[in-house]
Amino acid sequence: MTRLPIAALILLAACAPAPPHAANDITRLHPLPGTQLSVNQLKSQMFHVSAGRRLKGAWPNGARVAVGLSFDVDNATATLSTGNLDSEILSRGEYGAIDGLPRILRMLDRQGVPASFFIPAASAVLHPEMIQQIMGTGSASSVSSASSAAPVTPSSVSSVAHEIGVHGWIHERLPLLNDEHEEQRLLDLSIDTLTKMTGKRPVGYRAPSWKFSAWTMGQVKAAGFLYDSSLMASDDAYELLLDGAPTGVVELPIERILDDAPYFGSNADGSNPSVGDVFEVFQSEFDVAYGEGGLFLLTMHPHLMGHRSRTAMLEKLVQYIKSKPGVWFATHEQIANHVKPLMAAK
Ligand SMILES: [Zn+2]
Repeated sequence: MTRLPIAALILLAACAPAPPHAANDITRLHPLPGTQLSVNQLKSQMFHVSAGRRLKGAWPNGARVAVGLSFDVDNATATLSTGNLDSEILSRGEYGAIDGLPRILRMLDRQGVPASFFIPAASAVLHPEMIQQIMGTGSASSVSSASSAAPVTPSSVSSVAHEIGVHGWIHERLPLLNDEHEEQRLLDLSIDTLTKMTGKRPVGYRAPSWKFSAWTMGQVKAAGFLYDSSLMASDDAYELLLDGAPTGVVELPIERILDDAPYFGSNADGSNPSVGDVFEVFQSEFDVAYGEGGLFLLTMHPHLMGHRSRTAMLEKLVQYIKSKPGVWFATHEQIANHVKPLMAAK
């Protein structure tokens, strides 16, 4: 079998945007391909998608912090995408639709806070009742005051529905898919499916497993999304750059620290039974965000956080946050709409 010389593969990998297969090929042949690249080649790789202007300003109504709760309604789709039909894993995902999501929605309704739900469209098609449940239990965004530690009832504030955003078709890992046209087809299918099911075109995008291919940013921009929430270059919202050029797309950053999956997902496999430890991490992250006048975003999953002890922990956290004066609970869409004008500020 003929192989390209290493130098040719390095050149392939250095072209921006580098197709992922080239990087994979070269990694097999050279354990540290980055050592062979020039600074300009490194720049083109590092800054294919990168952080532009930070979008930090005053929050509405004098709030000190913005809080966005998000749930990735993956259920069993990531497993189905790989062809793995392991009944234990599939049923663990099914729990998200059967008990996890309804329990979380009841809690959000009790507390009167909105959330954003990023749903692989196939997950919505397999359990269409989830869309109705999310749309039927939406509550308002609200700014708490020092005296409003008591739960805000939905009837006491204007009704604002939860948000539904895109999270792939079947939680396809885009670098693994490694096909520009197929990725575009699945993105279009996801947008169309959720638009038909909800009656509204989604404005928010979150990549399955938070992983972009070389083409994702360009396709997200071309589809006209208001914001992405898959990257983590800052604690604050920022404008995304594509090959150094502003995209007009807001990034609402995520973080592994602020995600339930590392603590409760299958890789943890029960190694962290203490919900109290996770509460402490989330609480401390919130306290610093509050002190800095920043942004506090959580990523969770109904099939993980929807379990009894974990939703109880999350409710305790929401109650703690609500006990602070000047907290703005909002959907990601509301936060992105609020910070987007900062892109144009002088
Ligand atoms: Zn996911």
